[in-house]
Order: sequence, then structure tokens, then C-alpha cells
Amino acid sequence: MLPRPEIQRRRGAVSPTAAVGMLSVMSLVLVACGSGLATGGTATGADAVPTSTTGTTTTSRATPGSSTTTSTSTSVPEGSSTSGQAQNDEALGIGDDYFPDTGNPGYDVTSYDLTFDVDDDLVSFDAVAKIALTTTETLDELHLDLDGLEVSKATIDGAEVPHRRAGLDLVLTPEEPLKAKAAVAVVVTYGGTPEPRGSEVLGGLGWIGTPGEGSYVVSEPDGASNWFPANDHPSDKARFAFEITVPEGVEAVANGTRTGEETKGGRTTWTWSARDPMATYLATVAIGQYTFFEGQGPGGLPLLSAVADEVVEDEGKAGVEAVLGQLSQMVTVLSQRFGPYPFETYGAIVVGQPLGFALETQTRSVFGSDLWGEPVVQAHELAHQWYGDSVSLERWADIWLNEGFATMGEWLWAEGTGGRGGPPLSSGSAFGPPLNPGPDDLFEPAVYQRGGLTLKALRDAVGDAKFFQIMTTWAADHRLANATTDDFLALVEQVGGAQAKQLVNAWLTDPKPP
Ligand SMILES: [Zn+2]
Repeated sequence: MLPRPEIQRRRGAVSPTAAVGMLSVMSLVLVACGSGLATGGTATGADAVPTSTTGTTTTSRATPGSSTTTSTSTSVPEGSSTSGQAQNDEALGIGDDYFPDTGNPGYDVTSYDLTFDVDDDLVSFDAVAKIALTTTETLDELHLDLDGLEVSKATIDGAEVPHRRAGLDLVLTPEEPLKAKAAVAVVVTYGGTPEPRGSEVLGGLGWIGTPGEGSYVVSEPDGASNWFPANDHPSDKARFAFEITVPEGVEAVANGTRTGEETKGGRTTWTWSARDPMATYLATVAIGQYTFFEGQGPGGLPLLSAVADEVVEDEGKAGVEAVLGQLSQMVTVLSQRFGPYPFETYGAIVVGQPLGFALETQTRSVFGSDLWGEPVVQAHELAHQWYGDSVSLERWADIWLNEGFATMGEWLWAEGTGGRGGPPLSSGSAFGPPLNPGPDDLFEPAVYQRGGLTLKALRDAVGDAKFFQIMTTWAADHRLANATTDDFLALVEQVGGAQAKQLVNAWLTDPKPP
């Protein structure tokens, strides 16, 4: 995630003196990135107020706060398998106190196969989510995160089961409790018009649509549940495949590799598949008028970007190709610093609106029309593919492992193209500690700038050889997995010694950096 600096400065989250001091040593985009999207850009909920109905006519959603179990199927006894326990109408969580309702206990998702039949308004849809998971404990009920939408049917291992809502959760009740360590197939049939999830920090999250124009998805940190039933926490990564049917003449793009495009009876079905597991907030779809741009990165890496037609018209095809043409060199430069690029493909999705931010959606980052041409923003989101997407958070309090590393990625790209490798360490005194910033301050400059400076201080202390050994080992040891700050400190100590670990810890936690 990289929010637009102007918004940050307008909100005064960076003090004028700190900003002026830093402006003298680095570019504007490097200075400040943080919150404020609710007050800027056009990607707020106001643009996505649902104005249409969908073909979904069932009304199986339990009234929030009620204790009834509802189901569209009369053949399934209501509440038949609660084993006499009182039904809990609170959402369960996975145990991350930043977002207590998101994620769910008791299982790991292996894959999400998501099918969307998108209405002519290009916003609302009928959908089927096929979720393969493995239980980690015996479960009387299975909780998934789903905000809004209408569920018409749910099955577990082929048998229809009762479903109800409990806060953010969709609760499925199997006839018999699910055994621990069992492979379970869940299918949820649902639909409606997604309502952007509110976020005081970032405005609307999740599937954001403008009727008649299109939709796009940006979910960090907890927006995924507005468009599919999810175990919505980065600690449960899974593979994704998408089948998106839209009116003929409309493009639909998602993560991973484009595996098909078929038009029948005035409707086009686009299929996309992501080879490697990803966090729910990194899944994305964009629907509308897009032009595809293909290229090749180092080692034959397929590059595929989708740019909104209005952006192509504004910039000209050659202008778009000039910007996207840098991606191959960027992958080369960052691979030299971080190790092999972790995924099967890369590219950009450039939407036709000034979003005020960019997001590192896996293998295909999303950019607003206002930011996509900034090389430093492109470098930031590309760096996240190693740090954030491949090596993912175990808990949101460690967000600096994403943003500090991506900020370092900006500086390394600048350094690799003749610029400076980041601001002086003294600029770190303008910021509080980046570790555990609190859920409302995930995207504040302390996380980005002092997080990046933490790595710069480490580089200065141990030298380039050991520093880049740490960076590449971190990317390799936790590739396609999850890790914590404690894991990083252990690696720093192993390669750089106890003093280096102490230095990093002080940069992360002391009120003023050393
Ligand atoms: Zn970021």
C-alpha cells in the first residue's frame, strides 16, 4: 500500500518542519505516505452506493443480533447440529487484536475458486465460492467472514447445511461436527451488490463499483469479506482461481495468469488462476474497459498489465508502454537485491480513477490513474511482491515488515538508477517507532519511513554483504509463507550478531531512534 503524499500532507500527519527537512533530501513521494483516503480521491463509499438489484431473490440472511437459524432449504432441519449449545451471535476471530472479528479459528484454507456472473451494471453479481480447507480442530460450526450480500445456499462436502449470520461471520452448521485434520469442501452460493467496507483510515475497502462503468477490488487490511466468504487474515494464505462472466466487450482481470476468454451469447467469461498461495487482501478483480499490455521480464517472466481505456486515451499507447516498459528493469534491479522474483507473472492494473493510493495485489498491483506513472510508486508495489506478498504477515502489528521493506525497495530502485539510497538516518527522529503502530495507524509515515530507516541503519551497521544476505535470506526462508518481527530479529542476530539485533530492536521500539 502506498497512499498519495498530498493527502497525507493536507491532513497534517507529517509536521511541516519534518516534511521540509526531508524534502530537501528526497523526492516528494518518498517523504510521506499514510492515511487520509477518506478525504481525498474518489474511491470512497459515496461512489459505490448500490443503485441496482440483482437476480438473487432469496432472503436467507439472519437479522443481525437475532438468534434464529435461517436457510432457504426446507429439507435441512434448522439448528440440527448445535449439540445443545447456545448459538453464539458474535463473530469469531483468528486471534489478531487489531481486527478481532476477521479471520476464524479451526481451519486452514487451501484454495478459493470464485465464480462471478456480473450484472450489466458491472457492479453487482451472482457468485459461487468453492472453498477447500483442512480443519485443525473439531468444529461444530464453520465460520467464514462475509459482510453483506445474500447467501442462497451453502453445502459442506456436498450436503446442504443451514447457514446464518453472526456479525461479520457467515456460520455454517454441518449435520455432524467436522473432525480435526479433515479435508472439507465448502460451496457458498451468494450474490448482491457489494457495499464497500468502512475504514476510518482508508475509506471504502473491498469490491468498489461505479454502476455502468466497472468495479475494482482493494482490500487491505480487512476488505475481502465484502466480495467473497473468506478466512480474512493474512496468516491463512490460499490459492485462488477466478471465473468472471461479463457482458461482451467488457474486460475482467484478476491475479495470476489469464487462462481463458470465451464469448457465448453476448457474455464473455474470463478465467484467471494464481499459482501461488496469497493473502485474502491481495486478491483482486477489475472489471470495465481495459487494454492489455504484454511484455517479458528477466528470465522470460511474463508481464501482463491492464490499463483503463480512458488512461490509454489520455496518455497515448506509446506513453503507457514507456511507463510499463520500466517494469522489466525494475524486476531485474530488485531481484539483484532481494533474490529471485517469487511469482509466475507480474503486471499493473491501472483503474480509470485517481484512487489516491496503490496496492500490491499479488502478481498484479492496482494503481489509481493519479499515481501509476510514478516510478517510485511502481518500485514500492513491486518490492511488496517479495515483502508482504510472498513473505506475509502473521499479525498486523508487524506491518513494518511490509511497508518498511517496500520503502527500502523504493530507495534501492533509486540507488540502482543513479539516485540516493534513502534519506539520512537523522530524519528518523521525526517519527515514532514503527513496530505495533495500532490498527488506525497501519499506513502512517512512522511505519514507512522509520521502518525503512530501520533497515538502512542495519545496512550501515553491518555493511552491504551482510545486509543483502539478510534481505535475500528473509525472502528465501519465508517464501510463500508467513513470518514475524521476532523471526526477523533472530535472522539479524544470526547474520549480523547481537549488536545488530539490538540496533534493529531500538529502531523498531524506542520512542526516539538511536
Ligand atoms: Zn506499501
